[in-house]
Amino acid sequence: MSVAVQIMDAIRLGKGNASKKDIQETTSVAWGTMCKSVDNLLERGYIFARREKAQGRGRPVIPLCINNDAAFYVGIDIGAGHTRAVVCNLSFNTVYMDEVPTPRYAGSEQFFAFLRERVEAAVVQSRIEREKLEGIGVSVSGNVDFENGIIVSGGNFGMPFGANLNIAEYLSAEFGVPIYAMTTQAAASAAEYHFGEMAGTPNILTVGCGIGIGSGVVSEGQIMISRPGRLVGHIGHILVSGNRRLCSCGFRGCLESYSGGNNLVSVAKEKFPHRTDLDSARTLDLLAAAGDADAQEIMNTAAAYNAAGIASMIQLYIPEAIVFGGGQCRADGYLFNRTLEEIRSILPRERRENIKTSISTLGKYQSALGAARLVFERYFGDNK
Ligand SMILES: [Zn+2]
Repeated sequence: MSVAVQIMDAIRLGKGNASKKDIQETTSVAWGTMCKSVDNLLERGYIFARREKAQGRGRPVIPLCINNDAAFYVGIDIGAGHTRAVVCNLSFNTVYMDEVPTPRYAGSEQFFAFLRERVEAAVVQSRIEREKLEGIGVSVSGNVDFENGIIVSGGNFGMPFGANLNIAEYLSAEFGVPIYAMTTQAAASAAEYHFGEMAGTPNILTVGCGIGIGSGVVSEGQIMISRPGRLVGHIGHILVSGNRRLCSCGFRGCLESYSGGNNLVSVAKEKFPHRTDLDSARTLDLLAAAGDADAQEIMNTAAAYNAAGIASMIQLYIPEAIVFGGGQCRADGYLFNRTLEEIRSILPRERRENIKTSISTLGKYQSALGAARLVFERYFGDNK
């Protein structure tokens, strides 16, 4: 992270009381470098100094504050089912949010038009001044070449592998600001690391269970960003022994091909064709909780598969916290609780006791918020 971003974080976390000395303690940036950067941020109006009367002798301590409305960031999360947008101010308060269904992919032209329309709606309806927009982050439930801002594929909304849409080029030409593209789960982990209940925990695993099954990783305070050829946390495509279902990625046996929301319904149709009432993941979950044996059979298998995937991620990344999100994770949900039980039955006790599990407090805008954060993190402080 740039010095400017580290300083902005220290000021935000100081809640209006951080002095230069506090900032240096939090960031460990060399005093001279830090002062130069603070002066630059003051000059550009991103922060301001709160003047307070000197108390006693010595130099007065001058607390620094973020000028909330000095810059804004748009975050768009293109999920398998819904596309969500947020506009955040410089303190990362959400000043606008909206949600629309994600259209089924029908070619690049339609997709670009949809994306432009979502950003435009966010900018117009949030009533921010256009010149204060400083970046657009886009997270996608799919494969993303984040270095080049290219969406490679989005199987869950019908975008085939190799679609390769250069959204960074397109959106920066349309809106004249930096664009950053990433996977939904990279954005989710960024959101949890900075704004969630477990914020600041160095090793976090995020797991999203919805139409797709995704995961993100924060390792030693670094958000691991997946890229084609070096996948991080594609938990949904971990192969689970015993599962033979064909996945949207072309492999047979991926976790998601069974436990993904729509796939659970397909499993129900195949296994119990007479049970036309098992028509959504939500219904399956509620019926399982109510004791329905057919629904339980499906959900128990899904829980065992989920646990196999999550336990594999625990082996790889040794998280201190697992934060769950997505439509399938509810505190009183059958599949969610059954998944936790299965994980517990796999892990040795010392691991079980050292991992905190929770459901995200950030809600369904988690990834949109993370997308806004990541574009800020990457570009803030660059000279315009
Ligand atoms: Zn797969």
